[in-house]
Amino acid sequence: MAMKDYEFWFVVGSQFLYGPEVLEIVAARAAEMADQLNASGRLPCKIVYKVTAKTPEEISNVVKEANYRDNCAGIITWMHTFSPSKMWIDGLKNLQKPYLHLATQYNLQIPNEEIDMDFMNLNQSAHGDREHGFIAARLRMPRKVIVGYWRDEDVQRRIGDWMRAAVGVAFSKKVKIMRFGDNMRNVAVTEGDKVEAQIKLGWQVNTWPVGALVEEINAVTDAEVDALLEEYRKKYEIATDNIDAIRYQAKAEIAIKRMLDREGCQGFTNTFEDLYGMEQLPGLATQRLMEQGYGYGAEGDWKTSAMTAIIKAMSEGKHGGTSFMEDYTYELTKGNEYILGAHMLEVCPSIAAAKPRIEVHPLSIGGKNAPARLVFEGKAGNAIAVSLIDMGGRLRLICQDIECIKPPLPMPNLPVARVTWKPMPDMLTGIEAWIMAGGSHHTVLSYDVTAEQMKDWARMMDIEFVHINKDTNLEQLEKDLFLADLAWKLK
Ligand code: MN
Repeated sequence: MAMKDYEFWFVVGSQFLYGPEVLEIVAARAAEMADQLNASGRLPCKIVYKVTAKTPEEISNVVKEANYRDNCAGIITWMHTFSPSKMWIDGLKNLQKPYLHLATQYNLQIPNEEIDMDFMNLNQSAHGDREHGFIAARLRMPRKVIVGYWRDEDVQRRIGDWMRAAVGVAFSKKVKIMRFGDNMRNVAVTEGDKVEAQIKLGWQVNTWPVGALVEEINAVTDAEVDALLEEYRKKYEIATDNIDAIRYQAKAEIAIKRMLDREGCQGFTNTFEDLYGMEQLPGLATQRLMEQGYGYGAEGDWKTSAMTAIIKAMSEGKHGGTSFMEDYTYELTKGNEYILGAHMLEVCPSIAAAKPRIEVHPLSIGGKNAPARLVFEGKAGNAIAVSLIDMGGRLRLICQDIECIKPPLPMPNLPVARVTWKPMPDMLTGIEAWIMAGGSHHTVLSYDVTAEQMKDWARMMDIEFVHINKDTNLEQLEKDLFLADLAWKLK
């Protein structure tokens, strides 16, 4: 399902105490608010006013229906009046969808001259939302709380950001990853418990033979390759005479896409150690598939493949870009430190600062023909780097705020796409924090999704979240990691 196919249900709390006139006003205002929020253009999905809930039965019923509907990606609650929250216990206990408590108020201002007890009876969000907040806290519900005037741009933007994280939850529960070959030999961080990942995150991670891909590649016709080459010529600069190498990558792109679509997979992994029967490591092919929204993780890294697919789904319609990434090498000159990120080949052109070039160069590892690949520099701008690791018994999501910079010097002899960035809070502290937390060398780098959205996603998926940012302090981080370790063992 695409972003626009999802909806969020607006459930407004009240009770019978105030009489039918008040309830009619509440219902009319709730419908108006949903319409205006949809008209704001700041929400990626539709908000649908469902009910002014006055009884436990109404609340339980709307939750049951929300759980059942695939296109309902979450509920948004708001208490226009006071809604005694024992009424909400059964419904909230059964809720299986993301939950946002929007603590807002219909009116912006207190009408000082006109205010009377009728106004006070109708406009009780200030205490109604507190009563509602208590029961969610008492039930230990994972939820998002957003406070502010509902017409305010920042409030609308935050609701929209949360919706994207909630769509990431719906997407995660359906993720299927296709693995060609296993993990790179002896590598630890790309390993993990696939059964636990499916229980916790919904991911189905399974293997297909490299031989089946080779057969699929051999079945691609010349006419199909010709058509795809036309597209390459329009989108990229062809900076090689070795057209045969490009044609092989086009075949691989078509073949991998065919297998992914046939099996309903949103991402894949492969490894240079298991390419039996293939002529090249897929470079251009993998970059192109990522550009089309598929997830990818090299060397068997199914966790990063799935996270790439999820973050791309969360940022549908945005244009900053999201890619599989690897920390490669450091510039350590004092005061001018930065990280150079790249991979053997597989960086997504959605993050390119300018038109990518197709080049062909030999790979120094893997023993295959020189593969065609897209070469470019990444954009400058604020981004995040994300890594999901298996701590044994639980998953930890690590997210670092980073500032991507234009590479200070050209690197004419580097034959791969590259990005340069400064990690927060500063280069050395940022890397120390990352290593202390156990973050992988493989990451998802995204200009489109924020750390707050990744935190929202992790909370909804019930996994640990570590945020390395401008305020990170190593001593505090060490304590946090120690306490989190204890807490997650008890959970
Ligand atoms: Mn790698």
